[in-house]
Amino acid sequence: MAEVTEAQVLAALGTVKDPDRGTDIVSLGMISGLAIKDGNVGFSIEVDPRRGPALEPLRQAAEKAVDRLAGVLSVTAVLTAHRPAPQMQGGAQAAPGPAANSAPRAAAPKPAQPKPAVPGVRAIVAVASGKGGVGKSTTAVNLALALAARGLRIGLLDADIYGPSLPRLMGLSGRPPARDGRTLEPLTGHGVKVMSMGFLVAEDTPMIWRGPMVQSAIQQMLRDVAWGELDVLVVDMPPGTGDAQLTLAQQVPLAGAVIVSTPQDIALLDARKGLNMFRRVDVPVLGIVENMSYFCCPNCGHRSDIFGHGGARAEAGRLGVDFLGEIPLDIAIRETSDGGTPIVAVAPDGAHAGAYRAIAETVWQKVSGEGGRRAAPRIVIE
Ligand code: ADP
Repeated sequence: MAEVTEAQVLAALGTVKDPDRGTDIVSLGMISGLAIKDGNVGFSIEVDPRRGPALEPLRQAAEKAVDRLAGVLSVTAVLTAHRPAPQMQGGAQAAPGPAANSAPRAAAPKPAQPKPAVPGVRAIVAVASGKGGVGKSTTAVNLALALAARGLRIGLLDADIYGPSLPRLMGLSGRPPARDGRTLEPLTGHGVKVMSMGFLVAEDTPMIWRGPMVQSAIQQMLRDVAWGELDVLVVDMPPGTGDAQLTLAQQVPLAGAVIVSTPQDIALLDARKGLNMFRRVDVPVLGIVENMSYFCCPNCGHRSDIFGHGGARAEAGRLGVDFLGEIPLDIAIRETSDGGTPIVAVAPDGAHAGAYRAIAETVWQKVSGEGGRRAAPRIVIE
């Protein structure tokens, strides 16, 4: 079947009128972020935040109009605030934007309910980093697999929508099946349920995300996905500590955060920014993982501390945060990760899998309260 084109989608959307203004939503410039992949269409409808909840019928009408086109397999329309939400303080902040209100029940706006839990999900754990490229996604994947190897029911949510890499790292492709036209089923890889923007949009498709769109996409991946019963949902956060990350940390009901750092990046304060970010929004930092901690020569087995190994352990001690473990820089980790067969899955008896399992054990003890260590320590920044 021929791939549906952007022009066809826009023509279909051109038949949908904004009820209050009587003009179609394309002419009004309300459509943005249109993405088409293998017949899966996604876009946002930018609306005034105050009108958001009342516009659920419009959102549905837009989805229906596109759904009628030949070659369309799924349509996801998201209501998006056309102005960035003002930065609010404290309790008021958690009011979900209109996008979050695009949930199926076109409910009247509810009073701000800070971080409602995700039904069926026992603990949500963020994996974060001060900057990109430190191995955050690799750690998230192997942590998830190590938790699953312990017999826990695990989900993996790719909140790194700027560069969703979990489909590749988990060796998954294809489209998540839609259950009832709007609830998506996660895909399953290596025994873990996975949802990623990368299933809906090609990994190399450049996408421009504005703040409210990021929040809306992640809220939908959190709440409009049939996660079922999970012990832990591991969230691969977008790298960095900017506004988008802060808002996420604030809006997702996190049980705690794991900070991934390389030895040099903790020295350069990037990891500390991550700690501070979670501290600001009162999310317990479960600890720091030092990734690419030291280098094991694949030929002779010689170990060299090319990045000044051990910095994270010392720094964690200074900051009053637990040190969760160190993972060496090893080509086997890169190859298995980038090949979609994470090291914990393919070499479960190896040293690396053991290291990830130890990290997983500590994380699970902290978020489940099992093992007698319930609360994460408060962070003390000197
Ligand atoms: P991030 O999510 O922080 O951007 P990734 O997990 O995508 O980082 O890792 C970046 C690159 O580094 C990937 O190619 C990955 O395979 C590789 N990598 C991550 N951790 C290790 C490691 N411990 N040893 C070797 N390569 C690694």
